[in-house]
Amino acid sequence: DAKLQSVLSSLSQMARQSDALPSDRPAPDASWVKLNTNENPFPLPTMIMKSAIAALERQYLYPEEDNISLREAAANAYGVSIDQVIAGNGSSELLGLVYRAFLAAGDRVAMMSPGFSFNRKLAMLQGAQFLEIEFGEDHSLPIEQLLLGPAKDAKFILLANPNNPTGAFVPVADIERLVAKSDRLIVLDEAYVDFAPENGLHLINRYPNLLVLRTFSKSYAVAGIRVGFGFGHPEIIGRLRNIQNVFNMNVIGHAVGMSVLAHRAAYADNHRHIRHQRQRVRLALSQLGFSVMPSHANFLLARVPTGQDGSWWQSALARQKILVAVFADKGLENCIRVSIGTKEQMDAFLSATKDINANI
Ligand code: PMP
Repeated sequence: DAKLQSVLSSLSQMARQSDALPSDRPAPDASWVKLNTNENPFPLPTMIMKSAIAALERQYLYPEEDNISLREAAANAYGVSIDQVIAGNGSSELLGLVYRAFLAAGDRVAMMSPGFSFNRKLAMLQGAQFLEIEFGEDHSLPIEQLLLGPAKDAKFILLANPNNPTGAFVPVADIERLVAKSDRLIVLDEAYVDFAPENGLHLINRYPNLLVLRTFSKSYAVAGIRVGFGFGHPEIIGRLRNIQNVFNMNVIGHAVGMSVLAHRAAYADNHRHIRHQRQRVRLALSQLGFSVMPSHANFLLARVPTGQDGSWWQSALARQKILVAVFADKGLENCIRVSIGTKEQMDAFLSATKDINANI
C-alpha cells in the first residue's frame, strides 16, 4: 500500500541491489540425499554431542562476552595468541565483518574467480566494486597480475584454498609469495583446508597482511551450530572484534566449539572416509563421461557429458531426491558440484547418475 511504499522508499536501497532473499523452497526432509552445500553428514562424536546437551542447562544465561574461553581454546589448539583470534557464527559472519570493517562505498575488492558467490553479495551490500580475477592455467595463482593489475588497489584480496566451487588447491608457498609481496590485506578462506595436504595458518605470525578464516561447518560436521574463526594480526583482529555484535555466539556454539577443539583427533576417520569417497566418486564419474576437477575439498566439480547442461542434471537428480549445486558463473554452466557424504549417499548418487545417463 501507499504507506509501505513511502516507508520503503525512505530506507536505504542498498539491500535491493543484491538478490538478497533466498527462495521460498522448503528445506528437504531426511528422505533426500543432500549433496548441495558441502555439509559433513557423519554423526557427531559422542563427547561433543554431550557437551551440546550440557550447554542447554546454561540457556537462561547470556553467553560469555567476547567468546573469551572459546578464543583461548582456539589459540591454544592452533598455537597462536588469543588476540590473534576472533570467533563467529560460522565463517560467514566473519566474512561479513571483514566487508563492513574494511570497505566503504566505491571501494574496490578482489576475489579469485570462480569463487564463493556470497562474497559478491557482501561487496554489493557495501556498495563496493567487486573485481573477479581468474586463476591461471592449472589453477595457478596469477601473482604478478594481483600485484600490478587492477587488484593492486583493492582494499583486500580474497582467496579460498581449497577453492569453492572448484575444489582446486594452490600450494601454500605460492600464497606466501603473494602475501609477502603485496601491501594489501589477503583474506585466505580455509573453509575446506582440513581435507587438503597443507594450510597457511602459520603465516599469520610472519605477515601482518594475512587474515585466515576457518569454519567447523565442513570438516567438523557442525554446520547447524555455526562455529567459525578468524586468525590474523591483533590489529586486524581487533578491528573486526570492535564491530562484532555483543553476545554474537550462543552457549551451545561455545560448548561445541570448545569440545571440537579438544577432540579434533576423533575426526581422523571421518576425514579419511571423505578423501576415500572423493577419489571413488571422481573415478566413477569419469567413467560415466563426466570431466571431474581434482579436488582437495569435500566436494567435486564435474563437467557433465555433452548434450545437457548442469541445470538439466540438477533437475534430473532432484527427481530422484538427490540435491546437487549448479552455478551461474561463466564457464560453469555445464557443471554440477556434488558434496562428498557417506558411502551410502554416494552410492545413491552414483546409481541415480548411471540411471539418468543410460536413459538420456
Ligand atoms: N567460505 C567458503 C569458501 C564456503 O564454501 C563456505 C560455506 N559454503 C563458507 C565460507 C561459510 O561457511 P560457514 O558460514 O558455515 O562457516
